Amino acid sequence: MAQHFRAAFGQEPAAPVSNKCHHAPQMEVVMNAELPQERVADDRSVATAAKWNANGPCMVKLAVIAAFAASGLANRAVAAPATVTLEEALAQSAAGTTIPLSSYSVDFGKGNGLYKGVIVGGNPFSGIPTPVTIDVVVIPLTIQIITPDNHLVVFDPTIPTACGGGVSAVDRLKHSPLVVSKDHIVNGVDVGDVQYINAFMRAEFWNASEFSKFLDDHLHWTFVEQAPIPLPPFTPEVGIVEGDVSTPGCWARGIVTQSVLVGLIQDWIPLLQYQGVISPTKLALFLMRDVVTSVHAPPVSEKAGGAHSAIGNPVQTYAWVPYLTNNFDALAGKQDIHSISHEIGEWMMDPLIGLKGNKTPKWSAPGAKKCSSVLEVGDPIEKWSVAVETDGYTYHPQELAFFSWFYNGENVPSFGAGGEFSSNGHFAGPARPCPPGGTYR
Ligand SMILES: [Zn+2]
Repeated sequence: MAQHFRAAFGQEPAAPVSNKCHHAPQMEVVMNAELPQERVADDRSVATAAKWNANGPCMVKLAVIAAFAASGLANRAVAAPATVTLEEALAQSAAGTTIPLSSYSVDFGKGNGLYKGVIVGGNPFSGIPTPVTIDVVVIPLTIQIITPDNHLVVFDPTIPTACGGGVSAVDRLKHSPLVVSKDHIVNGVDVGDVQYINAFMRAEFWNASEFSKFLDDHLHWTFVEQAPIPLPPFTPEVGIVEGDVSTPGCWARGIVTQSVLVGLIQDWIPLLQYQGVISPTKLALFLMRDVVTSVHAPPVSEKAGGAHSAIGNPVQTYAWVPYLTNNFDALAGKQDIHSISHEIGEWMMDPLIGLKGNKTPKWSAPGAKKCSSVLEVGDPIEKWSVAVETDGYTYHPQELAFFSWFYNGENVPSFGAGGEFSSNGHFAGPARPCPPGGTYR
């Protein structure tokens, strides 16, 4: 189910772009247009800036952006292998040159023999898991979109807005259960006073071994206070604003073409590493406010909230996510940290996707038509969230599917908390092989 597409740049001769992009970015679509990223074309930052040049004001700022982009390309510090083996990634983890990783090898009666993979953090299958702290660096991205009638709409996660209740997206995230510890009851089991994703990981492996309930994967968060990346504005070819920005009521969100956004982020990763802002030993979390992505150019309604991926050697894991204050996503049951919890949960369980993802027996979300075979714990169960209060505000992180849901045969019990197959009981049985997919119970 790989889908290949071509980015808009390079197909549009109108802009005076000397460095046209001749490479077709190729990505595998995994459920709901959420994409693991492969390294793609090299010259899109320059192409983006040049396109912007052809469209708008602020030539001086543009020149700076183009120069930065070009220097980022020239100084690219990260070699991008087509893939990395599990052994290489584990060796890097052991040497402390990438994030802490543990490996697994399982056969729980669904056919095709052993499945091997790596997860972030301690090992739930062997002895008493070593407590692990994993660094996360939040890099705010201010997204600017030029509308067809030449207005510039700015989505800035560092600025308080009325839609966010007078609080910035960055500050909301800082006080959320992804960062702040609290006692979590998962499927009736008290898994302890921890962060939300740590609670999920514990619950997921609660009965995997004699000591697996002591799994402790704590995320240590650092917030870059100001956006270090001067992204060029998205022109109508690659960015649109949905809704009405002129009236109050939080009815606006941005949709940008994913290959363009990802190209810009990938071009900046080596520079941010060089500056010491990020490193392969830390998850780089690029945070937007109310901006989602589309695989199309111009963007259309097929949207993904965010995605996570890996690049380089040693492996740098990264993700881009929106904090949601708008009403569009709330109507669809996705609010505040829904997408962020989705991507971080998936990163914990499949950190190397984009290079060497964890394979599973084929599954599909209930009601979905396409089969998938990657260990992405958010994708099968996107429509459910749980209400969790921290620091006086109620957040809505997503329910996530357990390891046992993907790998267990029909009658193999879950080792998850409460014997369930997801973190709030909506999956009471494992995934049914796809097709037809769905869940047994
Ligand atoms: Zn996902």
